[in-house]
Amino acid sequence: MCFASDGTKPTNKKCPKCNLKQDYANKKCTECGFEFPPEEEPKRRQKECPECGLEQPFTNRTCSECGFAFPRATGIGKKPGGPGGPGGPGGPGGPK
Ligand SMILES: [Zn+2]
Ligand SMILES: [Zn+2]
Repeated sequence: MCFASDGTKPTNKKCPKCNLKQDYANKKCTECGFEFPPEEEPKRRQKECPECGLEQPFTNRTCSECGFAFPRATGIGKKPGGPGGPGGPGGPGGPK
């Protein structure tokens, strides 16, 4: 072990249940059988503008280059309190 740590990927992980070191590729703890959550690859934090092709932070709602308005992400991870919920115009909990 004479390699300096330079942020390379870990080769092992620790079981949160029994704290035993496990091979990083293990899907289950060999000791207690704890199932490790599926590896989550960090998704691209950039998106490409379909209009001008500029890559920009995923949080941008409009293209910083051409002003293209990105459609709102739908489907996955639907947030509660969407349109039509309480507090909306005409709905319950209207103006005070
Ligand atoms: Zn374990
Ligand atoms: Zn653009």
